Amino acid sequence: MLSERISSIFKKLTYSALRTGRNPEEIKLIAVTKSQSIDKIKEASQLGLRVFGENRVQEAKAKIEELRNFIDQWKMNIEWHMIGHLQSNKVKDAVKLFTMIHSLDSEKLAILINKEAEKINKIQRVLIQVKLSEEESKYGVKEEEVERLIESCLNLKNIKVEGLMTIPPYFENPEDVRIYFRRLRKIRDELNKKGYDFIKELSMGMSNDFEVAIEEGSTMVRIGTAIFGQRIK
Ligand SMILES: *Cc1c(COP(=O)(O)O)cnc(C)c1O
Repeated sequence: MLSERISSIFKKLTYSALRTGRNPEEIKLIAVTKSQSIDKIKEASQLGLRVFGENRVQEAKAKIEELRNFIDQWKMNIEWHMIGHLQSNKVKDAVKLFTMIHSLDSEKLAILINKEAEKINKIQRVLIQVKLSEEESKYGVKEEEVERLIESCLNLKNIKVEGLMTIPPYFENPEDVRIYFRRLRKIRDELNKKGYDFIKELSMGMSNDFEVAIEEGSTMVRIGTAIFGQRIK
């Protein structure tokens, strides 16, 4: 049942934080709703979840429209986060729909996001997606390029970089992913030392490895199947 799965996730999240001397309140649970039904999203929101992650703009747009009346009726403050690769021709919709975009991976995309955000008078919050190994997802900037992308964004008034995101390669054993999480945290800490103190968020950890990610400093875990079960598609 959804309620049992969610409370089990919150327990694990809390234990992982406390184990490493962290405050569980500083970790945001993003419920990944891609390929999940509207009914499940409604149920999750009625159980108190408020932050949802989608990886495709079209799918998110359709769902958000379908849910609009429901969300208004219950006066819910729902946040939608874009966690998948963002194509140039979807930027306009993305900027309208998402509180945060986790997948900024080029200066070109930053300029487009800034332009669309300016049009609707919004400061778009973003994270830079970092690619830490060749086996990882196709997208993301290399470690050496992160600082330059942050610098480019500093010139763009309608975009605000708040942290880093990564999707490590998949391993059966979550312990094998630890080095990637540790690496992302180190990159953030080094940026902080250089004066980029606004780089705070670490979006890392999914169903299989979020406890390890929290031990390594994650501030946003993106959890799909562990909450909703297998995806339909
Ligand atoms: C699908 C997806 C997730 C959630 O994956 P689960 O293994 O179902 O928890 C997290 N992050 C991204 C970027 C995703 O595409």
